[in-house]
Amino acid sequence: MTDGPTTGRILWATGIAGLEEMTAAHTRSVGNGVKGQGALLAFDARDQPQIFANEVHIVPHEDGTTAVGSTSERYYDDPSSTDAQLDDVIARAVAAVPALAGAPVIARWAGVRPRSRSRAPMLGAHPFRPGEFVANGGFKIGFGMAPKVAQVMADLMLDGIDKIPEDFKPETCL
Ligand SMILES: Cc1cc2nc3c(=O)[nH]c(=O)nc-3n(C[C@H](O)[C@H](O)[C@H](O)COP(=O)(O)OP(=O)(O)OC[C@H]3O[C@@H](n4cnc5c(N)ncnc54)[C@H](O)[C@@H]3O)c2cc1C
Repeated sequence: MTDGPTTGRILWATGIAGLEEMTAAHTRSVGNGVKGQGALLAFDARDQPQIFANEVHIVPHEDGTTAVGSTSERYYDDPSSTDAQLDDVIARAVAAVPALAGAPVIARWAGVRPRSRSRAPMLGAHPFRPGEFVANGGFKIGFGMAPKVAQVMADLMLDGIDKIPEDFKPETCL
């Protein structure tokens, strides 16, 4: 893995590839990918609350679309394809909110969540690359946590200030 910078402060925020690399350097799994499929519906509910029902999130967007998701797949062949499991997610969303019935599906997508062994974010000194750093394991909250993760990693890497919770440190997650 040499796609990034090779000098200066180095942060490995490489998702599932990083988990696989650390697993290869360790004696047991450091983490794995969990695929998720979601859909975007042309349904304007921007003034309505977000709902979690039938194990599905229904999320109104300010642009007049509504997202529904998602699957949680430990085993998968293609990280970015969608299939009948997404149809089931949409059906469960419609069962929970009948008003969604017939709403055009304008996008179907999939991605892989990087899940650490502990299920917690893994932040701090890289366990297998001395002098370098890691930010991984965002799993299902990686977007929400991103600003705070960036802040604590910048504090640590640039100023040597460690505000990372013990449970998130790589030595605890391994
Ligand atoms: C369906 C679905 C719904 C989700 N919903 C939410 C949600 O509502 N809220 C939320 O907070 N999170 C959500 N997530 C989780 C969120 O997507 C992840 O936690 C987040 O994307 C993790 O970010 P990351 O940057 O750590 O890893 P990634 O997003 O996996 O990014 C890692 C990047 O590193 C790159 N990379 C790998 N190796 C190298 C290398 N050697 N050099 C350079 N680059 C490299 C990869 O190409 C990739 O672009 C969802 C995920 C899915 C799949």
